Amino acid sequence: MIMLEELILEAWERAGRHPNREFVHSIIYGDAPVVVTLAKEVKRLKETLEDMCYQFASWSDSKGGHCTGGLSALEDAFEILGWTDPHPAPKSCCQEKGCKKQATCGTPTADGYKRLCIEHFKDVKDG
Ligand SMILES: [Zn+2]
Repeated sequence: MIMLEELILEAWERAGRHPNREFVHSIIYGDAPVVVTLAKEVKRLKETLEDMCYQFASWSDSKGGHCTGGLSALEDAFEILGWTDPHPAPKSCCQEKGCKKQATCGTPTADGYKRLCIEHFKDVKDG
């Protein structure tokens, strides 16, 4: 990082500006107030985008994850989040072995509490 700091300071000098080592250092190491504020905003925006994707993306029963369904707004959102399409979501899958449908119900079973898809939920309830 020292090398980067020196390169930036040299570039400022070549541009005829007065280099400010403290400012460059705070930008590089992320402790400048503007950098901290921007990082917090980016984090908040990504969390909100992620929540929107979980809420509006469709579910792939074959892959066990959220997918864009070809909607461009969701494709852009997935790209920004660095998600593949479909985006694997094992914690949202039915807990019945081998089932990749989305868990939409929860119920106590002989093996403890499980989150299940509607079909497996019915199996448990019907015995
Ligand atoms: Zn299931």
